[in-house]
Formats: sequence, C-alpha cells, structure tokens
Amino acid sequence: ANRKFHPTDTVVDCGFGVKIGGGNFQVIAGPCSVEGENLIRIARRVKAAGATMLRGGAYKPRTSPYAYQGMGAEGLDLLCEARAELDMPIVTEIMDPRDVQLFLDKKIDVMQIGARNAQNFPLLKEVGKTQTPVLLKRGMSGTIDELLMAAEYIMSEGNDNVILCERGIRTFETRTRNTFDLNAVPVLHYLSHLPVVADPSHATGYTRYVEPMALAATAAGADGLEIEVHDDPSHAWSDGAQALTPDMFDDVMRRIQIIREAI
Ligand code: PEP
Ligand code: MN
Repeated sequence: ANRKFHPTDTVVDCGFGVKIGGGNFQVIAGPCSVEGENLIRIARRVKAAGATMLRGGAYKPRTSPYAYQGMGAEGLDLLCEARAELDMPIVTEIMDPRDVQLFLDKKIDVMQIGARNAQNFPLLKEVGKTQTPVLLKRGMSGTIDELLMAAEYIMSEGNDNVILCERGIRTFETRTRNTFDLNAVPVLHYLSHLPVVADPSHATGYTRYVEPMALAATAAGADGLEIEVHDDPSHAWSDGAQALTPDMFDDVMRRIQIIREAI
C-alpha cells in the first residue's frame, strides 16, 4: 500500500467501466440496509443523480444482536437485480470469511469490509485471495497506520484492488456519531497509492451534516464518497438519522460537481 514502492496512483476497476483513483472520482450511494423493494426505487434515483455505484448492506454488523441483521443472501439477490436493471456496480458488506464463495458466485462487484471488521485478519486474508475490489473502512478506533496494515493483509494475499475509506473515528466528542478525520484524506494520499473514499454519513451520523462534510472531503481530494440515501429515512431499518432523501442527494450531487470543477 506504501507509495514508496508504487509512486503512481492505483486505479481500481469496479466493473461497468467504473474506475476509481488516479483522478477518477466516484460516488457510491444507496440505503444503509437492503430492506426490500424500495432498493430499486432508491437505486434509480441515486443513479439519475449521478451516483456511479450502488450500496446496500445485506449482512449488517449491528451493535445489538436483537437489531435488524439484514436480509442475507436474499438481499444480495435484490442488489443483483438492481445492478442488472441499472448497469452499475454494487458495493455490499461481507462480515464472514465463509461467505466469500457466495459473494463470488453472485459476482458482487465490490466487497465492503466494515469498520468493525477492519482488523478481522482472517476475513481480510480471505478477501485477499480473490481479485474482487475491496472497500476497506477504517476501524472506529483505528489509526491510519492500522488501516494501511489492514490493506496490506488483503494485498499480501494477492489482491491489489483495495479502496481505503475514512468513515470517522471515536473521540470524546458526542455531538456527532463519530469524528470525521478529514486529515486522513491527504495523509492517506501522501502515504499510499490506493484510492481514498470518504463516508460523511457514518462520519457524522446526522443528515444535516452529511452535505457539508461531503463537500469538504471532495475539496480535500477524496477519490470518491459513500453516502447513505433512503426514500423514507424515518422508517429506515438502520441508520435513518443519517440518511439523505433522494431530493437532498440531488442537491448534494450538484454541489459536489461544482467543487470538483473548482479544484
Ligand atoms: C455501513 O456502511 O453501513 C457500515 C456499517 O459502515 P461502518 O462499517 O463504517 O460503520
Ligand atoms: Mn449504515
């Protein structure tokens, strides 16, 4: 992952002609969880607004075992149906090394490793044995060096298609869900050749802060953003408090474009 050994930026090919890194900027958007048939409605809206990758969790790493755990394989199928209609790569979280074969069978375009699994070394090694792009999120108490070492776990098994993701870290601050470490964007670009994505949704935890932090991350040179969008946030099965509605997402995408043109 170290730029010393690889001075030029890595460009990760996510399929459907969507490349990220080295000047290629992409927005990943969709609901926190795949919940059912609203997925396709949300997917149509985020694509129309300019998102190039669709996200949605079918396996959810919830704090409580009694909270909604995700639709599992059925959720992957809904993502695959949306991909077939919209011709866009899908990004979804994998939590268990035993699911790698299933994700390969379904031809999941990008496997997300969530913050809670950022140092799940057996999982990192297992996705490292594939060639599927991996969106690797920073652990909530993980340092930048720990994130880079997690990337090494994947790459040392042979998979160089790693995209790093800053999603906020835990600090003493309680007004936001996490503290968005915007520093991580330029620091990761200095240290590593891998693409860097920012997730202002989990980094802030509140809808009202998502847009300003999305714009800030874009201005700071992020190679992409991951943003949660839901068509009925107050009834979302997870993370409704930080979801943008499709209309809000339209506005954010317009402003991201203005920042992209200005930098
Ligand atoms: C998510 O992307 O929905 C998610 C659970 O993110 P994180 O792992 O960053 O908390
Ligand atoms: Mn979420």
